[in-house]
Amino acid sequence: MFLFTVILKGRRDPPAGRLARLQGVLHSALQTPGYPGRLDLASLGTQREIDALVCPDDALERLPVLPREEFFRSLNQFRNSRLVQPRAAATKHPLDVQPAQKVTVLRHGVEPDARRLAQSGAESVAAPVGTLRRLAREIESGAIAPAPFSHSVIAFTDLDQGGVGEEDRALFWRAFQVPLFEQYLGMDGALLAGECEAHRGVHIEPGNALWESIASELVVTSLTDRQYPALRLGTGWTGELNPDTCGCGKTTPRLLNLVRLASPSPARAG
Ligand SMILES: [Zn+2]
Repeated sequence: MFLFTVILKGRRDPPAGRLARLQGVLHSALQTPGYPGRLDLASLGTQREIDALVCPDDALERLPVLPREEFFRSLNQFRNSRLVQPRAAATKHPLDVQPAQKVTVLRHGVEPDARRLAQSGAESVAAPVGTLRRLAREIESGAIAPAPFSHSVIAFTDLDQGGVGEEDRALFWRAFQVPLFEQYLGMDGALLAGECEAHRGVHIEPGNALWESIASELVVTSLTDRQYPALRLGTGWTGELNPDTCGCGKTTPRLLNLVRLASPSPARAG
């Protein structure tokens, strides 16, 4: 059982430096089998060309969109095998509450352990949506006691596994009876976008990812993942990027009217 509890502080968005982070991801992409040809066509096939970039848009304008199916079908092609990058361990709570929230985080591939969860004294639990489903069903069936979370549930989703559906929301409400916040994570576990208390779309995380809407498909570029560099990766989702200030007060742009067309990727579904 891989379970740990973290105290979350209300951290601000990271400072500027997105170009440097993008350059780091591009350099790492040069070490993969699949990216160099694509980077070459974009005149980004050498370290010198990457270092000469003046802004992130400069790179985005040149790189072709990488279809989601191609990326997940040939993941090893887009992996920098010279690097082992641990998944991000920190979770950013959607609410800037004081005192800081105590959140129990369950990572991918773990089964819920009700007794340890209860003993953790956590006010919130954060876990992959599949883990939350299992936990919620066990609570509903009476197999384990209702979860003790008094504050909120955070569901991690990713491009590969799909998102939180309406059925999930109903199930989680019955089982947990606290607000749900969905957070989209990259392959490295970094937060790409997350739901806020207004529950009107999801706020992008500008320090971790660049989002674009191209022919209504949302396209994402990671600024953090050097093991599986996601460079203009098609999400299979449609939606719009809205720059208006949200009802929650945050000014980071939001993904609105999201429709997730993507079914589980060929690799996972197979
Ligand atoms: Zn908001």
